[in-house]
Amino acid sequence: MKKQIAILGSTGSIGTQALQVIAEHSDLYEVYALTANNRVELLIEQARQFMPEAVVIGNETKYSQLKEALSGLPIKVYAGDEALAQIVEAGPIDVVLTAMVGFAGLKPTINAIRAKKKIALANKETLVVAGELVNELAQQYGTAILPVDSEHSAVFQCLVGEVGNKIEKVILTASGGPFRTCTMEQLKTVTKVQALKHPNWDMGAKITIDSASMMNKGFEVIEAKWLFGLKPEQVEVVVHPQSIIHSMVQFEDGAVKAQLGVPDMRVPIQYALSYPDRLSSSFDRLDFSKCGNLTFEQPDIKRFRNLALAYEALHQAGNMPCIVNAANEIAVAAFLRNRVSFLGMSDVIEKVMQTVSFIKSPMYDDYVATDAEAREVAKELMNFKI
Ligand code: NAD
Ligand code: MG
Repeated sequence: MKKQIAILGSTGSIGTQALQVIAEHSDLYEVYALTANNRVELLIEQARQFMPEAVVIGNETKYSQLKEALSGLPIKVYAGDEALAQIVEAGPIDVVLTAMVGFAGLKPTINAIRAKKKIALANKETLVVAGELVNELAQQYGTAILPVDSEHSAVFQCLVGEVGNKIEKVILTASGGPFRTCTMEQLKTVTKVQALKHPNWDMGAKITIDSASMMNKGFEVIEAKWLFGLKPEQVEVVVHPQSIIHSMVQFEDGAVKAQLGVPDMRVPIQYALSYPDRLSSSFDRLDFSKCGNLTFEQPDIKRFRNLALAYEALHQAGNMPCIVNAANEIAVAAFLRNRVSFLGMSDVIEKVMQTVSFIKSPMYDDYVATDAEAREVAKELMNFKI
């Protein structure tokens, strides 16, 4: 029996690479459902190639175009947020790959957990926003959450065969992004075009900006806490500009295990689907004679204040990471429309953290309300409407 896969966000960077993995292993995997928010042409093309049972487009105005293009094919077509959140519950689905961006991933992920589907988690914002709730539900429903994020996949791979062995700390590597060597003065005037050029990874716009500001690494610290049951002080970040070591685990005897490879997201995507097995791949291999020096440095939280803000949110816990995530989503959207400066994004996030009411033990509805409130506050601060 082939594993039935649902890809949420199939038209994005992770989604399209996941489809390459599935195409390479069509003897093992079949696409059951594909979803996208806006890019209807690509969704149509993917649907024709992979012939899923169902496709969902978030933007309802694109429904008729999608429906018409797929008419005559045995593919069910849906539209809207409710359909996006419900499709994961379909009986035959084995694995749900969450590859959409932002807070929007929370509801479908929760639904998938309740429907006992295995989660291949790329949408880190889900764990940033509501890690505690998501973990509780995963435990209650006996659902596995497998990391797709390259750092967390590296940690996960280092932990294979280590059941019961104590982790001293996890060391997440960070490329440092395109502005790693910029002075504070230079950071004041960097543009979105510069920020969108990541040195090592080709990713969606939002995570590329998050990588440039190091909010992505802050989110990954929070993600690591929830995935691996760590205390905040057990998650460390080291800047490693070559992105060859994807992350490391230090055990209580002081031994450190690392996972290495060329930067290629298809490796962690494939591992999340095939775990505990490894499958063959045609991807590039690491050539040590060509990769030169591997270097390491401390992250600078003065220049990259978002990393400090994420750590602060992690320490405060409750709905604070949800507040930071929402403020950041709006700040990044504004930065991409030239409505706030690169450094201004941190000012906005910090103000929103101080303004939105703190909830120590949030429930699902509190996260939804917090997200909405934080977005409004952030928009008001920048006089920004979307
Ligand atoms: P992307 O922008 O390239 O693609 C996003 C996908 O999600 C698209 O298919 C889009 O249609 C869909 N989408 C966007 N907003 C949506 C919404 N509100 N509702 C439903 N669908 C929506 O993004 P990406 O780079 O593929 O990243 C996806 C997720 O994976 C993010 O959470 C990101 O942090 C995480 N991630 C990405 C990478 C990477 O290499 N790209 C690495 C690690 C983690
Ligand atoms: Mg990552």
